[in-house]
Amino acid sequence: MPVQCSRCEESRAVLKRPKTGHSLCKSCFFWAFEEEIHQTILSAKLFNRGETVAIGASGGKDSTVLAHVMKLLNDRYDYGLNLFLLSVDEGITGYRDDSLETVKRNQQQYELPLKIVSYEELYGWTMDAIVKQVGLKNNCTFCGVFRRQALDRGAMMLNVDKICTGHNADDVAETVLMNVLRGDIARLRRCTAIMTSSDSDGSIPRCKPLKYAYEKEIVLYAYFNKLDYFSTECIYSPNAYRGHARAFLKDLESIRPSSIMSVIHSGETLELKEGVKLPVQGTCSRCGYISSQALCKACVLLEGLNRGLPKLGIGKHQRLHGKILAQEPLTENEERKLRSVDF
Ligand code: SF4
Ligand code: ZN
Repeated sequence: MPVQCSRCEESRAVLKRPKTGHSLCKSCFFWAFEEEIHQTILSAKLFNRGETVAIGASGGKDSTVLAHVMKLLNDRYDYGLNLFLLSVDEGITGYRDDSLETVKRNQQQYELPLKIVSYEELYGWTMDAIVKQVGLKNNCTFCGVFRRQALDRGAMMLNVDKICTGHNADDVAETVLMNVLRGDIARLRRCTAIMTSSDSDGSIPRCKPLKYAYEKEIVLYAYFNKLDYFSTECIYSPNAYRGHARAFLKDLESIRPSSIMSVIHSGETLELKEGVKLPVQGTCSRCGYISSQALCKACVLLEGLNRGLPKLGIGKHQRLHGKILAQEPLTENEERKLRSVDF
């Protein structure tokens, strides 16, 4: 016998919400999903009327759903936001070039202006070239650091007030776990924030309107709305450690779906004991980007690439930053240690 929608009690239910277990029809699910994001935006005061907001768009399901919902809520509730799509082209043949085609179609579908910034134009290196030099073990370190800065630089070019990204509840829970596993207290403290603050360092605030949306529901929302998104994995995706954290979380979720929310809640309410030292944020002496060291991670990674010493930015080599800044040559021994990378 067909199950009735538990909300409207009129239409036939087409799904069981992973988050609540409610049986809902398509339009009641859309409504519930969109309303929750609207409530998240309101209660965290993510935006102010008149602001220009860049939506980080990769063509994947999360950012496509984010663009769709942001556009819809902006119209439905008259937020008064000026929305843009902002994409980063990492230079990965067979992956990013295809997913950017999706973003270009989204631009037409949502009638939002699109800006694409590329690693090649910003850093002089594509990920294809980086992988040739560093191999497939540390490539995501380069890519992650460069992407963060590229989004900021793109946002500055567009003169936006805020950036929003498609990080969902599963991503946030996974990051909490990763930071616990790495013992990275500074990041653990920051990673659950729904919005980064801008007052201290002058960087553009970033927010996550999908912070409480489950990945499974994002997939259902995209599927039932027939959204146009790109679902292929990056060809350089070797991040085994993160993969284990993800698999662990998925296992927990299959036994108890609320595990995802519980991990986020734990991250949000953790308090540091007195006396725990945190890195002091300053700015990079080369590019001016926020950094707790003399040189920011992107500048160190880039210097390593340009000198053919890819290990420079991987591991702890802060000792050498002074030398790099002063353009002093490294000793043969120092160079030897930095040259080889474990493939
Ligand atoms: Fe970049 Fe790694 Fe993501 Fe590929 S998987 S896009 S290399 S961070
Ligand atoms: Zn820098």
